[in-house]
Amino acid sequence: MEVLMHHLWQRVLPRLPRTMSTPCKSDLSCAAGHAPTDSISRPSTHLPPSTHLPLVSHLFQPSNLRDVGQEKSAQVDMTCKSQRLMQQAGLIHPSNPGCYYYLPATVRSMEKLVMLIDQEMQGIGGQKLDMPSLCSAELWRQLFRLRDRHGAEYCLGPTHEEAVTELLAPQGTLSYRQLPLLLYQITREFHDEPKPRFGLLRGREFYMKDMYTFDMSEEAAYRTYESVCQAYTRLFSQLGLCIVQVHADTGNIGGKLSHEFQLPADIGEDRLLVCGSCSFSANVETMEPGQTDCPQCQEGTLVESKGIAVGHTFYLGTKYSHIFNATFNNTQNKPAVTEMGCIGLGVTQILAAAIEVMSTEEAICWPGLLAPYQVCVLPPKRGSKVDEVAGLAEELALSLGEALPRLKGEVVLDDRTQMTIGKRLKDASQLGYPYVVVVGQKAAEETPRFEVICQQTGETTFLSRDGLVDILRCVETV
Ligand SMILES: [Zn+2]
Repeated sequence: MEVLMHHLWQRVLPRLPRTMSTPCKSDLSCAAGHAPTDSISRPSTHLPPSTHLPLVSHLFQPSNLRDVGQEKSAQVDMTCKSQRLMQQAGLIHPSNPGCYYYLPATVRSMEKLVMLIDQEMQGIGGQKLDMPSLCSAELWRQLFRLRDRHGAEYCLGPTHEEAVTELLAPQGTLSYRQLPLLLYQITREFHDEPKPRFGLLRGREFYMKDMYTFDMSEEAAYRTYESVCQAYTRLFSQLGLCIVQVHADTGNIGGKLSHEFQLPADIGEDRLLVCGSCSFSANVETMEPGQTDCPQCQEGTLVESKGIAVGHTFYLGTKYSHIFNATFNNTQNKPAVTEMGCIGLGVTQILAAAIEVMSTEEAICWPGLLAPYQVCVLPPKRGSKVDEVAGLAEELALSLGEALPRLKGEVVLDDRTQMTIGKRLKDASQLGYPYVVVVGQKAAEETPRFEVICQQTGETTFLSRDGLVDILRCVETV
């Protein structure tokens, strides 16, 4: 491998611009043990400290990709607002049906969401791990008929209950003192979706968080279940999403208790029944056909609405742990079967569902914490009357990150100064920066003032630099 890398460097480096590489000192030998040579260049390992300001012209949200998305043929499967907006803004790009490239701004947003999920899951004692995507078909045979859509001896496991219990079973040394044990992972999952649609909402590849919980008793398992549901509720409230926790069917996963976390939305494919008088809500699938009386308070009437399921919790009991022998040593030092829970969260679905319900038809609105960048600074058009304040815009963008360390890396400069302010404002609103700062005519005055547009309130104000810093001080970041 090293030898191969060495040859690759030899081929690639002479073509790189001079600034990206420094000549190899003759007293250094290369990693592969080759004799030192002056003819090979290496990339510098001493890059200057980060004074990096993200420039819109450098961001990979290619407009040629956007154009493809606007072709008539591609319009056909634009099935919902979030998909259309995300493709238009260069956030995602379709590959195969139900599969997308997640472009850099989307990945930034998703990484922020993952950080929030990690905080909540680790806050209730969750430990993160990473399990293989390829599951031995043998694991499936023990439980279900072999899923043979690939006709191969391996299959892609839609969930990992089997794998995680197999991981625990041979340990045999799990003590009751280690319980509850909460293991989770965030991975790319695959689903053989026959009719992929709604962009990231119903795809064939997506990111999921799945958690598996192990408890020593039914009572303890219910407590764990409840603490996970509360963590989900906190997560969604941080994101500003009005989620409804509904009773759900345990379906083919099985188990004793199940809830879905539904985001009410017109395009939602789940039908919910919500009581007008108490907190009861349920997926229609769990109710008697035609039932309109609330089974909880007996007074309220159930009203139907639609929702997008973004989370699902199952209390499985001992179904899986029994089959796979996931046991622990109890207080009498005797082996006992663990009580298990399985809890999922659709990571990419949360992102798309949030965009779906929060955005307007023209502009993306993110949950504040998930916006790919918090602030966009617009210098004047090149060659305009106030061209001389262009330098001020760049300096402002850099200084915001210094004045407010939380905003470091969160401020971008739209340096496409060949374009008018108006055109760039339109792009900015399409991408959904929570704050846009225009450096225009008033920035040329003795005390420079900047036009500040707050996406959430729609308000435009003219602020001095200090005023701007004061406003941005309230911006929350992950
Ligand atoms: Zn009720």
